[in-house]
Amino acid sequence: MSTEHGPLSPSTLVVTSGRPPRVQGGPVNPPVVLSSTYVSQGVVGPGELLYTRSGTETWEPFEQALAALEGAAQPGVVFGSGMATVAAVLSAVPDRGVLVVPRHAYQVSLGYADDLAVRHGVEVRRVDIADTDQVVAALDGADVVLVESPTNPMLEVADLPTLLAAAHERGVRSVVDNTFATPLGQNPLAHGADVVFHSVTKYLAGHSDVVLGAAVTNDAAIAAELRAYRTLHGSIAGPFEVWLALRGLRTLALRVERAQANATELARRLADHPAVVEVRHPSLPSDPGHDRAARQMNGFGAIIGLRPRGGVQGADGVVAALRLWVPATSLGGVESSLERRRRFPTESLTVPEDLLRLSVGVEDVEDLWADLDGALRTLL
Ligand SMILES: *Cc1c(COP(=O)(O)O)cnc(C)c1O
Repeated sequence: MSTEHGPLSPSTLVVTSGRPPRVQGGPVNPPVVLSSTYVSQGVVGPGELLYTRSGTETWEPFEQALAALEGAAQPGVVFGSGMATVAAVLSAVPDRGVLVVPRHAYQVSLGYADDLAVRHGVEVRRVDIADTDQVVAALDGADVVLVESPTNPMLEVADLPTLLAAAHERGVRSVVDNTFATPLGQNPLAHGADVVFHSVTKYLAGHSDVVLGAAVTNDAAIAAELRAYRTLHGSIAGPFEVWLALRGLRTLALRVERAQANATELARRLADHPAVVEVRHPSLPSDPGHDRAARQMNGFGAIIGLRPRGGVQGADGVVAALRLWVPATSLGGVESSLERRRRFPTESLTVPEDLLRLSVGVEDVEDLWADLDGALRTLL
């Protein structure tokens, strides 16, 4: 969207996009329509509503808003979860095809890739996404590359412009999980990605009250493929969830700005803490992903990787001693939360056993620090 003054900034678009037409007496917010079917007879024209599994007006404002934020030429395609979205975007890998994945991608995305290997004979090439030469070498003969940057939970930063250009040159479809960065942090379509997707459950919805996913692309044929997949597999979102996600999106810029500022301050303090072995956050000048993130991202995200003293016991001790931070999986909510990732036997074995993934929320940073510092001091 643009005005006579030029294009609107992303922090305005989160507020303005996906609104109903401005007419006298019209609602400011889109209505939630609860109807499984629509009045129809005979041939249904393009864009006309028929049945909610194939489309409902309640999805459209969110799909338009996400496209506006990612700078996509096509409306987004919303799904029932981030994983339903992963399944849809990876359906482009043919049987016995080749899929390149980051070795530290979201563990359930990796589980899905392994399932493709078992059931469809797909060759899955796991790469260090921060090692550009290694990734480019793995692209030879590949069908699809899944990119995550920063990665979950290791916070490795990929060289997006170089990797996406290399994939494009080789005819490899690139699909980028932009959950950690959010569309305010980076827009991979602008660097040449074919598809960008989100676990909307996380920052976009932002309040830990819905599970939802969405993908966007510039390519009309890929968008049609994703919509057809959604209809065939029935991996659809409920209208209320999409409405809640749009409501959450309205404050995305405020939430992300605060959470990133909190995370940057906490990472700086943690780096000097006597009970800390290692802290990963791309804001730290010493972080291996710092220079790349500074070049290609707006901000450094609000996830911190933390290894306290005392190994697994120390890490579990910190989680148990916290009173304000919530021990829970998931991330991107207004509340700060954390977990030790290797508590899941399915987490990649190259993720350190004592790594805590912190999702920094929007609380007062001094309260967050007092709780964290107190819990860490129990290890000294
Ligand atoms: C949570 C998450 C997913 C999966 O999304 P769900 O909404 O939980 O299905 C995918 N990618 C990343 C990076 C995630 O954090």
